[in-house]
Amino acid sequence: MKLRPGLRVLERGPGTVQFGADQRWATVLTGLTSAETDVLRRLAGPDPVVGAELLRRCRPSAGAPVDPERLSELLAALTRSGLLTAVPPGPLPVGSGAADDVRSAACTATDGDGARVVAARARAVVAVVGLGRVGMVLADTLASAGVGTLALDDARQVRAGDVGIGGLRDRHVGRARAEGAAEVLSGRYPALRVGGDGQAPDVVVVVFDEVADSVRTVRLMVEGVAHLVVTVREGDVVVGPFVLPGQTPCTTCLDCRRTELDPLWPRVRDQLRDAAVQLPPAQESSTAAASGALAAAQVLAHLDGRRPVTAGACIEVSAPDAVPRLREWSMHPDCGCVDVSPPQR
Ligand SMILES: [Zn+2]
Repeated sequence: MKLRPGLRVLERGPGTVQFGADQRWATVLTGLTSAETDVLRRLAGPDPVVGAELLRRCRPSAGAPVDPERLSELLAALTRSGLLTAVPPGPLPVGSGAADDVRSAACTATDGDGARVVAARARAVVAVVGLGRVGMVLADTLASAGVGTLALDDARQVRAGDVGIGGLRDRHVGRARAEGAAEVLSGRYPALRVGGDGQAPDVVVVVFDEVADSVRTVRLMVEGVAHLVVTVREGDVVVGPFVLPGQTPCTTCLDCRRTELDPLWPRVRDQLRDAAVQLPPAQESSTAAASGALAAAQVLAHLDGRRPVTAGACIEVSAPDAVPRLREWSMHPDCGCVDVSPPQR
């Protein structure tokens, strides 16, 4: 056993030690002797001492003053709090460059094996459709987090407004967005595979302008592919829903719900769709950065085996403050998507 990497060990006063600083898992042990405190502190650090080694050091012949049974009790308390893990730290994925993501996942993964989490990401394929600023921040964040393959899809030309956050530059203006994106991302992440080579994606992200078009996601529904819908609108960016076909509300479900709230929504929606073709909505820098990162977090949750918070909800990120708000949605009985196949993973 060892303490999850990255956890802080903090002295709160005589005989009182706090393990971890995050309120989700922070645990305080009290009534410790100074020798016990000293030994427990060795659980942390760049080269933490594992439980068995601690016990060896506590043998009377070694002169250690800590009673092994007492130490076992303390370690058991930390184990019950989920702070100790039996999993040894695995090697970092070669070329992933995601060392800090490994450390973070060691705190949050169920088994404490951050290397396993990032290694799984390295095997994953994520398709990103729509490569303006939001799509670029999303793709950049996924690559930084260790995702191994990105299939980039956007034949539209890079606009002057696309330059900036996300990595597209003046030299890319006029070229196909997917081409510019591939150049940017390949330069930043040499180990990243760009293209996918026809591999079935684990997740598809589609970035829409103004309104989410269910016609463009129907194939994903039929094939049971998990997908995240991101919609750039006049004054905000909507991240979600993350659709697990047949299990969580889809694009059409939300369209039905919106029509219930506003019977004239279909008429407005169609005008917005046409207007976006003429003049795409602005992807303001702060909003694009925040929403792109939130979108990436949804994808990573799915790849890591967790349920994305946007499965059944949307995160609305409004300009100019970019403060996210979660809005829940439910499946609509008229949609019929409950009858589609469950997702492949
Ligand atoms: Zn539906």
